[in-house]
Formats: sequence, structure tokens, C-alpha cells
Amino acid sequence: EKVPLFRFLDRAAHKWPNRKAIVFKNWSITYGKLKEQSEVVAANLRAQGIRKGDRVAMMLPNLPQTIIAFWGVIRCGAIGVMTNPLYMETEIVHQFNDADVKCCITLDLLWPKLNKLRPSIPVEKFFITTIGEGLKFPLNILYKLQAKKNGTSPKVDYDNTEVFPFKALTKGRERYTDEKVSAEDTALLQYTGGTTGVAKGCILTHFNLGANLQQCQSMMHTLGQQKETFLGILPYFHIYGLTTCLTWPTSMGATLTPFPRYVPLDVLKGIHKLRPTVFPGAPSLYISLLQQKDIGKYDLSSINCCVSGSAPMPVEHMEQFAERTGTAISEGYGLTEASPVTHFNPIKGVRKNGSIGLPFPDTDAKIVDKDLGGEALPPGARGELVIRGPQVMKGYYNRPDSTADVLRNGWLYTGDIAYMDEEGYFYIVDRKKDLIISGGYNIYPREIDEVLHAHPKIEEAVSVGIPHDARGEIVKAYVVVKDGEELSRSDVIGFCREKLANYKVPKRVEFRKELPKTMVGKVLRRALRDEEAAKLE
Ligand code: ATP
Repeated sequence: EKVPLFRFLDRAAHKWPNRKAIVFKNWSITYGKLKEQSEVVAANLRAQGIRKGDRVAMMLPNLPQTIIAFWGVIRCGAIGVMTNPLYMETEIVHQFNDADVKCCITLDLLWPKLNKLRPSIPVEKFFITTIGEGLKFPLNILYKLQAKKNGTSPKVDYDNTEVFPFKALTKGRERYTDEKVSAEDTALLQYTGGTTGVAKGCILTHFNLGANLQQCQSMMHTLGQQKETFLGILPYFHIYGLTTCLTWPTSMGATLTPFPRYVPLDVLKGIHKLRPTVFPGAPSLYISLLQQKDIGKYDLSSINCCVSGSAPMPVEHMEQFAERTGTAISEGYGLTEASPVTHFNPIKGVRKNGSIGLPFPDTDAKIVDKDLGGEALPPGARGELVIRGPQVMKGYYNRPDSTADVLRNGWLYTGDIAYMDEEGYFYIVDRKKDLIISGGYNIYPREIDEVLHAHPKIEEAVSVGIPHDARGEIVKAYVVVKDGEELSRSDVIGFCREKLANYKVPKRVEFRKELPKTMVGKVLRRALRDEEAAKLE
């Protein structure tokens, strides 16, 4: 069914007008009010000169304002650009120019950085909120005091021509409920994670995103038949967090609980208090929670569904998590280019640990070998995972070459190496770009990482290929040892020797306090490889 994305909010508001849509500290809003509020924001954006197709950046952490802004922006026909609030200056300048951002909704804490960049970005209007905005007394005062004390509450000079307080969007009687937005219009210019290179803007239509919500729902069977509460830790600026913690729960009338910062202890306390039923997460998040010494003190029993995606979830940690919480993690897979989800392990039905599950309904998936054309390879064979379905993007914005590279004959080439088993379950082996070729052998680093993660003294580890004169590349492992434990290079190598063929055993081992990661917690192998390359220069 082809409808603009905000119809999912409208339906929830129609069915459950009095249900709580968002709970944040001592503040909450019902679905009925959230819909109204988004119509007011849309009307104010129109009044401020924002037109259909204009790009509006939302550079915000997970806050109620982010949710309100999101629905308002796409309702007025503008194109949302979700921006990582921790972006460095060069990243902001790149993204805002690449997307030609006309208007930006952001936080006072980020204002000094943005204000300085104004000569180098095309933004004409800024709307600025504060973390405590909307909270009831005395929490709002508390937030203001805290910000002042930390020296992080910058003064913003509102001039009401270019720089406005967020209220300018949320106040007023005017409501925008125009029907001018169609399902085929672009809803988001959503940037990829930038794990393998520069972030690219994916053109996602209302229909792409809505189709993915319906696919998510049909895979979840019973979920949403009762009122659910979703833990909102995954960042809304990333497509995975946006879908699993914002749009999808909205479509089922669930309560959203935004967490602006990820502090493991706060999350455990939050679960204890808010009693969420669904916990969408990512491997690094589940792993860091498991490492909290006091995890046993908190009641996590309300959670009955955990979904993991965005990076491989080590099987070892999956099992530990299930033991600790009594809830199994279902792994799925997706990418920004596919709005994002394409595969999932059914919640009810056969779930296979280590697998990304089955393709979504209406989604074709096959494994191909570039050199053999587009023919599907048989079960067990490794090749590139390609996908076709209603959730696949229209293309990259302003990048015809990259688009032609990944969209071929109606199929999306994911850049991930995978295989399918006899029962149609898919397994990600690795990213094509991470493949290590050593002495003519193909080595998939994930296999080595799984072995390292199984070591009782290793907290986290990752292996990459580094240049080597004779072998082309050799395997190097970067290892983070658990607190209070000791481990030597030969321990690591000895452990790998027992479990891996010799050519896969890391030849170099480096111990680190932490691994470099992207903002959504994916290990940046690229950064480690660059470090090695720099050593050679
Ligand atoms: P960029 O495309 O800019 O390099 P990125 O690939 O991180 O960044 P995203 O769209 O955020 O951009 O991530 C999609 C990728 O995440 C997939 O192509 C895949 O490599 C990885 N991924 C997602 N889910 C899983 C999973 N369950 N197991 C393994 N890898 C996964």
C-alpha cells in the first residue's frame, strides 16, 4: 500500500489517541497530541518558507523534540537529513553541502560549532532546542543548571530572521494537513554509516520507508498486539535506530523512550524503571551492557524481544545475553540503501544464531559471483549478497557512478559476502572490502574475530589484513583484554592455532585499551588499516 510515511503516525493517533507515544523523564505526550504537534511543526516550517523537496537537517540526539521535528519535517513535504550530533566540522560541512541543507534543527549545545561554520554551509534558517525543553518544572530547571555548571550551556543570540528558538516551530494554531505529499516523493536523504569510506546520501522515498515498516511488522507476528514500550538507545540519526526505535514502534502505537546519551548504567536503570518490552540494539551495545558488573541488580525481565543488527553479533555474546536476561537476541540485517532491513530471524519460528535469518516478505535475495554474471549460486556457495524489493533506494544523491555501481538490473549489490543454507537462511561472511588475501588465500576476518571473542580473557577483538612484502597481506589482530586479566601475544596466537588453519592465524597481535569505532559502534577496520599504511610511508 502506497501512502506517505506520516500516515503511519496518523493511523496510530486515530486508533490509540490516548496512548502514550513518548515518555521522557517526567514528560509524556499521547499519540493524538503528537500528531497535532507534528501538524503544527509542518505549518510553521511552511510559514518559514520551507517548501516541498527542501532539505531540512535534524542534528539532534535522541530527544522528544527529535521525534516531533522528524514527523513535522516529512509531513510538510521537506526531505529530512538526519545528522549525527557528534559530527566533526569537516563532516558537517561535507554533509550539509552535499545535501544542500536549507534549514537545520539542532541543540543549543551544538550551536557554537554550527555558528562558526555558517559561512561554509548553505543553511538559511536554524531552530534551536535545549535538552530540558518541554520538561515539567523542576526537571527543566535542573537540566539548565546542570548545563550551566558543566560550562556547556552556550548563549544563543536569537535574531528571529535566521536563528529561532525551537518554540517557533511548535507554537501556534495553524496546522498543516495538506495532501500534497505522495508516497513516491523523497522523505529522507539518509547518509550511510561511513564505515568503508565517505558517507553517501541515499534517496529514500516515503514508499521505501513505509514498505519496510510493513515488512518489519509482518515478520514480527504477535508484536504490537498489545501495547509495547521500545527502548530508544540506538541513535535516531542512523537509519537502523530511526526505524527500530522511532518509525516502526510508532506504526504499532508503542511508547517510545528516547535516551539522549548512551551510559550503560543509565540504560540498566532505565530498563528497570520504564519496563520496556522491546530492546532494539547493536552488538557493541549488548556487549557493553553484559560487562556491567552490577547487571544482576536490575530487573530486566520486562524485555521479551531483542533485535540486533548493523554489525555481526558474536554468537558467544548472544548466548551470554540470553543466559543473563532470559531473552534471546534475534539478529537481522540491513543497510541504509534498503531503508534499511532486508533479513531477519523470525521471532516465532526457527532462529539460527550466527545467521541474519530469512529475507523479508516481498524481498528477493540471492548470492552471486560477479565473474559468473547475475545467476544465483547454490546453497553454501559464498558470493556477494544482492537484493531486490520495495525498500531499495532510488539511488545515491548526486552520485551517478556510485549508483550505477550498486544498482544493477533492478538489484542492489550490498558489498557483503554471504551464503545461504539449504533452508534459505542467510549468513554474512564479511564485507567485500574487509577480505584479507594472504599468500593467495582468501581469509574472512570475521571467522578469526569469532575465535578471538571465544577467549575467556578477551573483551573485544578485531582482525585486519596489513600489507606484507612476500604474502601480499598478513593477519593482524587487535585485542582488548578484559579488566584485571593478563594475556600475552603468544597466548593469543596459541589459542588461534588450536582453532584455525595456519594461514588464518594472526601473525601480529597488538593490545589496545579500546577499538576505533563509528558513532553507531561499528569497528573501523579502515582506521586500523590506515594506521598500518601510514607506518609504511
Ligand atoms: P558505508 O556504507 O558508508 O561504508 P556502512 O556500511 O556502515 O557505511 P550502513 O548502511 O550503516 O553503512 O551499514 C550497512 C552494513 O552494515 C551492511 O552492508 C553490512 O556490512 C553491515 N551489517 C548490517 N547488519 C549486519 C549483520 N547482522 N551482520 C553483519 N554485518 C551487518
